[in-house]
Amino acid sequence: MATIPTSSQPFNIAIIGGGIAGLTLATGLLKHDVPFTLYESASKFGEIGAGVGFHANMVRTMDLISPKIREGFLRSANLLNGNPPVWFTVRVGDERKADGNGIVLRRDGKEFQVDEALFDVYARSGPAGGIHRAHFVDELVKLIPSDRTQFRKRLVDITEVEDGSGDACVHFADGTTAQHSAVIGCDGIKSRTRELVLGEGDAKPVFSGKYAYRGLIPMTEAKKIMGEEGAMGKHIYVGYGGHVLTFPIAKGTIVNVVAFNSRENWTDPEWVVQTSRDGMLADYSTWCPTVQSIVSAMQKPDIWALFNHNPAPTYVKTRPRICLLGDAAHASTPHSGAGAGMCIEDCYILSSLIADVTDAKNLETAFKAYDEVRRPRSLKLVKESKEAGMLYDFEGPTGDDIEALESNMKHRMNWIWDADISLDLEQARMIFNQNAKDALPI
Ligand SMILES: Cc1cc2nc3c(=O)[nH]c(=O)nc-3n(C[C@H](O)[C@H](O)[C@H](O)COP(=O)(O)OP(=O)(O)OC[C@H]3O[C@@H](n4cnc5c(N)ncnc54)[C@H](O)[C@@H]3O)c2cc1C
Repeated sequence: MATIPTSSQPFNIAIIGGGIAGLTLATGLLKHDVPFTLYESASKFGEIGAGVGFHANMVRTMDLISPKIREGFLRSANLLNGNPPVWFTVRVGDERKADGNGIVLRRDGKEFQVDEALFDVYARSGPAGGIHRAHFVDELVKLIPSDRTQFRKRLVDITEVEDGSGDACVHFADGTTAQHSAVIGCDGIKSRTRELVLGEGDAKPVFSGKYAYRGLIPMTEAKKIMGEEGAMGKHIYVGYGGHVLTFPIAKGTIVNVVAFNSRENWTDPEWVVQTSRDGMLADYSTWCPTVQSIVSAMQKPDIWALFNHNPAPTYVKTRPRICLLGDAAHASTPHSGAGAGMCIEDCYILSSLIADVTDAKNLETAFKAYDEVRRPRSLKLVKESKEAGMLYDFEGPTGDDIEALESNMKHRMNWIWDADISLDLEQARMIFNQNAKDALPI
């Protein structure tokens, strides 16, 4: 079994997976001088060529974990403008919602053209916005000493070491093993760690009924399609069975596009499949010329099937000690733009709790306190995100009612944006302190 780096602390952690969750957790553990090794199955850190957005409270949480994460985000992000900033401008993109003259009539008698701005949804004040995923991962990687990471280490199993320590023996696909006091699974939506905590049946992701085309358009080209101001704004074009998002990333040099559509089931074992340009355009054949041009400007027409998790009854296993974090715990559809933000929140709470642990046995107490505080909020995101996708696609209880859409969209994000993470940490610490006292011999 591999030797683990020694430290003043009587325990060490295995982080499985080096995505946004694993790398952020590693930064949090470094700050508290907690020994860990991060195991990544790929040969290097990397992210897909797409954007990811962070809300203002998530950016503040980055700062609480380490000001360097926030600084890295600010270096490459495209920040929302205005006070309060506009989160998204909502437009109807699907011409089937209009009358024969291209007019969308609201119940209050106001008339709008398809493609015209219907209303803005305002975000909260404070730095927030979109960033190229690869740029964000690069910023996180800079914060982690290279000797804390091992690549080409695909976790296949975790067993309990038979020396009475309660430690975990981590088994990798290359036949090697490593002993750690505990394992934190940050291995994403197809998490093996999740299977080991919940059992293979319950752990499996389920198809959400939605798929997306994801792509980037150079800003110069986007401006030709959407106009100077339009390309720099953030837009949701809504319609029947689909919606299209655009927002600038990479300091305004690129427009990120995510074009959603619906189907009943997904049978292909692959979640990212190639499609033809004609196939993609057919999905938006009833949509306005702007949307059609945006979609056709995306260079690689790949379809991404969108899966999410059923609610996990727990994020923790105690023998051996395993804890789930990020998408491994609560993979959601992207319709609230907060899945990665939830990873950041998880990392803040869990790394702060682990910082208070002085005995390996109390790692499970920390995990349980994290589970109690984080599970309700992160599972709510999975549920509400799916509902948001249906709302934007006129499939919710209020169908294609624009007034109902507006009032729903103007309030539905409050619980995500206005949460005070320091109160959650206070509560988690209270639970931890109570149970840690009970767990340790006097
Ligand atoms: C279309 C789309 C748009 C999105 N937009 C947003 C957004 O705007 N804002 C937002 O907050 N969130 C967004 N999300 C959600 C966000 O992308 C995820 O929540 C987040 O990236 C999850 O990070 P993670 O580190 O938990 O998992 P991942 O990024 O999946 O990382 C898992 C890592 O674990 C490694 N790994 C996997 N299995 C093993 C193994 N067995 N052994 C070792 N290593 C392993 C993988 O190689 C990978 O590096 C979006 C998601 C989608 C699909």
